[in-house]
Amino acid sequence: MNASTTARGPRTARTPWNRKNPYRARLVDNRILNGEGSTKEVRHYALDLGDSGIEYDPGDGLGVHPVNHPALVDAVLDRLGVAPDSVLDGFERPLADLLTHSVELHTATADFAEFAASLPCDGTFRELVRSPDFASWAWGRDVLDVLEAVDGPVDPAAAVAALTPLKHRTYSIASSPLVHPGRIHLTATTVRRRDTRMRSGACSAYLADRVGNDGAAGVFLVKNKSFRLPEPDVPIVMIGAGTGIAPFRAFLQHRRAQGASGAAWLVFGERHREHDFLYRDELDEFLRDGTVDRLDTAFSRDGSGNEKTYVQHVLRAHGHDLAQWIDRGAHMYVCGSIAMGAAVDAALRHALAEHRGLSPDDATEVVAELRSTKRYARDVY
Ligand SMILES: Cc1cc2nc3c(=O)[nH]c(=O)nc-3n(C[C@H](O)[C@H](O)[C@H](O)COP(=O)(O)OP(=O)(O)OC[C@H]3O[C@@H](n4cnc5c(N)ncnc54)[C@H](O)[C@@H]3O)c2cc1C
Repeated sequence: MNASTTARGPRTARTPWNRKNPYRARLVDNRILNGEGSTKEVRHYALDLGDSGIEYDPGDGLGVHPVNHPALVDAVLDRLGVAPDSVLDGFERPLADLLTHSVELHTATADFAEFAASLPCDGTFRELVRSPDFASWAWGRDVLDVLEAVDGPVDPAAAVAALTPLKHRTYSIASSPLVHPGRIHLTATTVRRRDTRMRSGACSAYLADRVGNDGAAGVFLVKNKSFRLPEPDVPIVMIGAGTGIAPFRAFLQHRRAQGASGAAWLVFGERHREHDFLYRDELDEFLRDGTVDRLDTAFSRDGSGNEKTYVQHVLRAHGHDLAQWIDRGAHMYVCGSIAMGAAVDAALRHALAEHRGLSPDDATEVVAELRSTKRYARDVY
């Protein structure tokens, strides 16, 4: 245990690092976790906290400042018909610098789409922007897609003024400070898609491909006090799909380092066992040494039929055990997509209704009580 940690974890110290003033953390590990043949790209990262003084607890997240892709910056400059080093009226910096570091380009925001729809453009685009279908159209699209809907030239200063400020992205921390003092591990899916051109996520593709060039990324701690391990003797049930495994890797590292006596049950879901069983060796080791008492998996694309098995199906199949773990005082944690979080919530209510003989309303009330007493925490995105 290092000097700055206590038996329960590190003390929380105030640091000067925040959203507006991120710490430049060196990226010291960057590797793909999926096996060959996977349709996904999930990476493991390690960042060195150096002399930042940043101290975290398992369950916390890390804010990362993205840097926009140079090819997208160039394409937007090209569409606006301005040179990279030009400084527009009302802006103090060269345009390329501004577009690279300060505004959202990889996401098609509603504000920017509204701006585009106010210009001469395709009528169906204008309708789309004002319709409830806009969000699904925007998913996977960027600012260049929006600009392509506009007919003719676009006033660069007006366009830049309509862009939204570049936001940090949050990632769940995948390591324990007891095991990796001074380091933070992350587990992140790289968002990228090629069709007519390459589209990528601002932050995930920056971490995957380009931090290497600078060697460091701007980061700050995002505390999550509602996603905390209980006392070491309290049982825990962890349900995670995909990168939702991240905080549970942190939890398990921490519990092993604490010599925790509380039982642990992990339910993990992904696409294929062969390619996508993230941290498989480590999870096997946790199982062997008793840090995890029970590991259930759901690999949705492994079945031969149309029926896909997700983590919520595993929970439904083992509803009796789940109700028993809850009766034994287990704390429950869910991490992964918002849709998965909702499905797990329904499975939990179903398990309680069926195995405790409760009405649906009473089961909902028990779940609400688990949440209010901090025995059921969700980190979904
Ligand atoms: C509390 C919290 C914890 C999180 N923890 C993790 C984590 O541990 N690991 C992790 O990988 N992510 C995590 N995320 C999600 C993460 O913050 C980013 O949203 C994600 O990495 C995408 O950001 P990006 O900058 O790469 O893509 P963006 O630049 O935001 O998006 C680019 C384009 O891709 C689309 N897009 C965005 N996400 C996806 C996607 N998943 N698949 C396909 N298209 C997409 C967008 O609509 C947009 O058009 C977490 C989010 C929250 C709020």
